[in-house]
Amino acid sequence: MKVAKEFGLEVIKIDSAWGTPLNPEEFKKVLEEDKQKEIKAVIFTHSETSTGVINDLETISSYIQQHGTALSIVDCVTSIGACNVPVDEWQLDIVASGSQKGYMIPPGLSFIAMSQKAWESAERSNLPKFYLNLKSYRKSLLNNSNPYTPAVNLVFALDEALKMMREEGLDKIFQRHEKHKLAMSNAVKTLNLKLFADERYLSPSITAIKTEEIDAEGFRKSIKNNFDILLAGGQDHLKGKIFRVGHLGYVNDRDIITVISAISKTLLDLGKITAQEAGEAIVVASRYLDEG
Ligand SMILES: *Cc1c(COP(=O)(O)O)cnc(C)c1O
Repeated sequence: MKVAKEFGLEVIKIDSAWGTPLNPEEFKKVLEEDKQKEIKAVIFTHSETSTGVINDLETISSYIQQHGTALSIVDCVTSIGACNVPVDEWQLDIVASGSQKGYMIPPGLSFIAMSQKAWESAERSNLPKFYLNLKSYRKSLLNNSNPYTPAVNLVFALDEALKMMREEGLDKIFQRHEKHKLAMSNAVKTLNLKLFADERYLSPSITAIKTEEIDAEGFRKSIKNNFDILLAGGQDHLKGKIFRVGHLGYVNDRDIITVISAISKTLLDLGKITAQEAGEAIVVASRYLDEG
């Protein structure tokens, strides 16, 4: 929204409460009301990393398609590489991701997929741009080149990451993220903690957990100091109220069991759970991990 405004664009905001998914029907309503076809694009995020929510990309995209002229521009940074994002089947116009998430390599590369319709818009676009003018990247790409020097070192890293992904296979990668999501979310429930996100829309990449009367920042610090595991905190008004466990990319069953054990031990020390519950969390997680 800030970026769009910076470019002098007029923005209509469609919101949802933190932890709940975007309501596709709200998109439908706004798009249907736009009889003059003035809406140029709908920009939103598929997997919302700050809250652990995954949005119904397929349905929202179908409403954008019905509008006819608006493009979908989707941040798939923490969904690509974690779950299926069939760009063509869902008729997504612009999909963007970055090297530091599902691709498991350092930050510095970004990836973009664009529909024919999006390229036609790019041809017409008169918004100011230079370094990130996609037309120049496309032109160079056709000559197997780049308009500027790219982060070559990261391209080598990407080559290796893609080999690993190919070896594991996309279906297996998606299954692994799904089982880690289920293991994590169900284990924390046995630890008397509540999920922050709507359980029907849990992101495959990250689980956000409410700590209620426990200070989440202190909890995170304790886990960092005792186990050298870095949990993410809450952003903005959620700081101190939630912590987040990332399970995107280079993560295996051992990592999941370890983080659940660390959380259990810390809660046990705080007197928040019984030994029985601490043990149960591992049993519950194992049940989901065995399914993969
Ligand atoms: C990490 C992330 C980004 C990229 O963040 P930068 O730090 O700006 O590169 C964008 N969207 C989502 C949903 C993310 O998780």
